[in-house]
Amino acid sequence: MSTSNFDYLKDSIKTEVLNLGFSHIGYCSPAQIMDFEIYLNWVNNGFSADMDYLKRADALEKRKEPKKIMKSVQTIIVLAMPYIPSDQNENSNPKPLISSYAFGRDYHEVIPEQLKSFTNWLGEKIKPFCLEYKIYTDTGPILERSMAVNSGLGWIGKNSCLIIPRKGSYFFLAEILINIEFSVDPPFPHDLCGNCQKCIVNCPTGCILDNRTIDASKCISYLTIENKKEIPKNLREKMGNWVFGCDICQKVCPWNIRFSSQPAHSHFKISPKIQKISFDSILELDEMEFKMKFKESPILRTKLRGLKRNMINAMGNSKEINNLKIINRLADTEGDPMIVDQLIWSKSKIVNFESIQN
Ligand code: SF4
Ligand code: SF4
Repeated sequence: MSTSNFDYLKDSIKTEVLNLGFSHIGYCSPAQIMDFEIYLNWVNNGFSADMDYLKRADALEKRKEPKKIMKSVQTIIVLAMPYIPSDQNENSNPKPLISSYAFGRDYHEVIPEQLKSFTNWLGEKIKPFCLEYKIYTDTGPILERSMAVNSGLGWIGKNSCLIIPRKGSYFFLAEILINIEFSVDPPFPHDLCGNCQKCIVNCPTGCILDNRTIDASKCISYLTIENKKEIPKNLREKMGNWVFGCDICQKVCPWNIRFSSQPAHSHFKISPKIQKISFDSILELDEMEFKMKFKESPILRTKLRGLKRNMINAMGNSKEINNLKIINRLADTEGDPMIVDQLIWSKSKIVNFESIQN
């Protein structure tokens, strides 16, 4: 039996993935990987900052050629699952700001569960043929957004996000490499950013490059999550109140302003626990309390040390005199040089602001 005969399953596959919370599906070939040269230049020019795992030779090989991940791969199924944009207002009050994707359960936990459920279903459907597969959701060396373009889902915006027409960019992407041949979708043919520059103009750190990539070393998402060191002094003020990720380049995007409201998987509903976090509620936590509070949340990724650093930076930027008490209390006991450095910086911000006001 020719494996491409499995096209007859496409309608029921669509129904199945929609039931699992995905909103879009496309198929592409592992033999047509786009944008590898752009990715290679990005890492070679140092724009991946300290994320050395992105530069590893074996990871580069796999990105270039998915057959290096799975020899038997015939097709890549690309899926998108929506999440809910938060309604935080970065200008109205000095609250810690968290990227919208982090208000619910960690997608690294939720999406693989759904993908496994789907592959179990598909495995049954194609019997006696034996399904081989690999699943990804921001979890391995593949060019996710390029695959999404290649399978017709949308285009990569100037802010480097995958944008789905008339839906926006608040989506998680997922991929399944499978040993079944399906017919593939045509790549998305348009760049619907046009002359818009809103993400570039509004990015506080100016880190959006002109080839739909980001200089991670200056991006607030990197600085608050992946960065394990002190935040560079020239970027601290530009980070405002963001303590985990940053949504600005998505929030200002006209495609999100017009189209982004859509039902999301129940796991991504906004958690009141996360919604209510305040500076003092985090800075008083010990390691165990941090792990309990953020159990199943992507915020665990930054670790307590990183979140504390980010919170103290945001307190400095808030210029709120009330935060000075918290900073002074922490400075009495803190021994970690990274946190001490951040406390000194934030204290001076508040003190200088107060002295100008009086
Ligand atoms: S996430 Fe924030 S800092 Fe990073 S590119 Fe977008 S607007 Fe700029
Ligand atoms: S803000 Fe404008 S330029 Fe940036 S991604 Fe959206 S449409 Fe494209």
